Amino acid sequence: MKTIEDVRASLKPYPIEVEFPDITPWEDSATGVDYVHSFDSGVAGPHVLIMALTHGNEVSGAITLDRFLKKGLRPRQGRLTLAFGNVEAYHHFNPQDIDATRYLDEDMNRVWLESRLDGLEQSRELRRARELRPIIETVDLLLDIHSMHEEAAPIMMSGACKKGLRMAAELGVPEHVIADSGHKNGCRLRDFQGFGDESSAKNALLIETGQHVSAVSTKVALDTAARFLMLTGTVSEADVADFLQPVKPAPQRFLEVTEPIVAKTMDFRFVEDFKGLEQIKHAGTVIAMDGDDPVVTPYDNCVLIQPSVRHLGEGVTVVRLAKVIDAP
Ligand SMILES: [Zn+2]
Repeated sequence: MKTIEDVRASLKPYPIEVEFPDITPWEDSATGVDYVHSFDSGVAGPHVLIMALTHGNEVSGAITLDRFLKKGLRPRQGRLTLAFGNVEAYHHFNPQDIDATRYLDEDMNRVWLESRLDGLEQSRELRRARELRPIIETVDLLLDIHSMHEEAAPIMMSGACKKGLRMAAELGVPEHVIADSGHKNGCRLRDFQGFGDESSAKNALLIETGQHVSAVSTKVALDTAARFLMLTGTVSEADVADFLQPVKPAPQRFLEVTEPIVAKTMDFRFVEDFKGLEQIKHAGTVIAMDGDDPVVTPYDNCVLIQPSVRHLGEGVTVVRLAKVIDAP
């Protein structure tokens, strides 16, 4: 049977276009939680968190926070927290296998359930999530910076609530915004407690900036994080001018995930080299083979969200399907 190493070896590796910053200068922190820095303006306003490295190999967020911290960015109102998530996985990064350090024991973006955080299970990711939790529970507005296995246009994951879609529209970037309710195998940080509750004033966005180690991902991460801080009133445009992209944002397009495609075998393969956001015109089009079984699009104008076999396994989601929806 094919192994995940066989699958990855058959795929073209992406060149590493960015330098992984040394983040150890940010280990010590007055918050009492390593690699978490928090600044209170003393002026009323929301507590805004930018989270990097929820996945250990997703360096664009780490570069962004390193740059913000080096610049000495401080909030003009409310409180600003800049946090590095799965630092231990980041420190295990192997340039020969850029996909291997997404996490060490388990996906840190599936553990955000009170039952798991309060439970007795142990993993390195649960330990870190438990450290971060008291700070996260005081956050009003969150931007969680991620990147993708394949090179594709950036996408904003706005969650299942209308309030997430509205905030993504107010932010105005990136072009593609995707409403979705997460994954069956756990809860994401962006959906934790009030972030995923329509009746709460809290709100969260998750940006997928592009391929993990591409230079363009870093530009997207810096631009999106800077705009997020402007939108939340944390900083002025002049404070973050160094990080903004000069290009005018394209009109946004809104999509809603309808279902995941879950691999049944290790012999799952796409029929084309899909990277993401491809729109398949006709229902019934074969997009992949899973063993001998064809996988077809269930409706017209079906959009592929993050197709990738770099983490292939039986029961693993290899692509999600989305339909176009109206602007909020
Ligand atoms: Zn991620």
